[in-house]
Amino acid sequence: MNRLAAWTTEAVSKGVAKGLMKLSALTRTQSNDALLAKIAAVPGLSLEHGEGRDSAHFFLNFLRHAERRGFSEREVARRAQQYLAHPVIASERARQMARLRFGLPGLRSLILSPTVRCNLRCEHCYNLFEIHEDGRDRLSLSTMERVVGEAKELGAFRVSVIGGEPLLRWRDLALLAETHNDVLFTVFTNGLLVTDEVASTLCAQGNVELAVSVDGPEALHERWRGEGTFARAVAAIERYVAHGGMALFAPTVTAENYEALLSDAFVDAMIERGAYMGYLHHYDMVGGQEREDWLLSREQLQRMQRRIEEIHRTKPVSILSNVVSDLLRGGCPAVRDFVHINHKGEVEPCCMVPFAGASILEQSLARALKAPLFDDVRALEPDAHGIKRCLVGENLVTIRRAVDRGDARGTNAKSDALFAHQDPAVVAKLPTCFSSTA
Ligand code: SF4
Repeated sequence: MNRLAAWTTEAVSKGVAKGLMKLSALTRTQSNDALLAKIAAVPGLSLEHGEGRDSAHFFLNFLRHAERRGFSEREVARRAQQYLAHPVIASERARQMARLRFGLPGLRSLILSPTVRCNLRCEHCYNLFEIHEDGRDRLSLSTMERVVGEAKELGAFRVSVIGGEPLLRWRDLALLAETHNDVLFTVFTNGLLVTDEVASTLCAQGNVELAVSVDGPEALHERWRGEGTFARAVAAIERYVAHGGMALFAPTVTAENYEALLSDAFVDAMIERGAYMGYLHHYDMVGGQEREDWLLSREQLQRMQRRIEEIHRTKPVSILSNVVSDLLRGGCPAVRDFVHINHKGEVEPCCMVPFAGASILEQSLARALKAPLFDDVRALEPDAHGIKRCLVGENLVTIRRAVDRGDARGTNAKSDALFAHQDPAVVAKLPTCFSSTA
């Protein structure tokens, strides 16, 4: 980011923090509903369901979290910079430049897998097959530093770090966060490697948050992840928060655990441990998994959606689900908002789409994004409900055509198995973001 842009985002963040501190004081005495009624009275602001209401709850619950932790105005300004000013103001400016420089619409974030190696073997993992197949890391620290720099030029000031277990490379991640201290990194981890040394090193720059996989109460969690893993996962959240970091709980959702995950007891326990948010990732079958009975039905998704709304109104925490969240409305964000770079340097439209259109190992990210597969994805139109559907659900045919033309290739040995899904009932339940909305 140039000096003028850095100054602008800092100045805006300081101004925003002053307003937030005032609003934060109001959250001590007033419910979200009462505050939203006041906000909705402001001319031009719409807070109807799906039109900003969840975002407003998210915002207020973030302030409630800040209030609980006693954040100073300086700390709130720093968070405003990471969560608001960089991803909105700096990103918008970079995307405008990307149109001129590269003829590309740009990105809002990047998903990066430094490794698929893992210290666990969970049956419900979306990447289980790849972990067994080929766990060699091919992304060096210098490649990651280059790619994150290039992603910023395209507008991406947020990076989700996934795997495998990304903390197997925690020293590299700490250096990456230091090099790009204007980027917010969210590291998805099973929490087992979060020692005090790891927590304090990753917290040092203030721009790494931890998303710890906690799949529900102890018995459910350990049935998938193994004995002793629950206590270590929740301790990871506590430890990271104790070092001053931001942490969230990030379970995999199945038909078996979704009710327990959203129960008062579980959500309250996560809040107590210090989580400011929950990110729910739905179980899927894109990695050759076979538990069709773990996919959620439409009715279960709708129940989840209602329960999430209730939590937003009554608890100081926000819940984001890649399938039912109104915060993500607008259709499939793959390629429009982000791409995934896997541990081999291959560029996939999304981490749930095991097909690549290019590699970043020998070319820039901007050049890789000009590959025909990404043009095809950008050209996809929304359906009759106005929703752009999933590339491994209803729009699988787009990937199939690109593979047949030679413009895309499977990134693991089970990629092509996706094409064998013939049953429309199963396809409709694959990881179709926004599937409860129509
Ligand atoms: S709709 Fe499908 S392809 Fe698009 S972001 Fe969601 S999982 Fe990925």
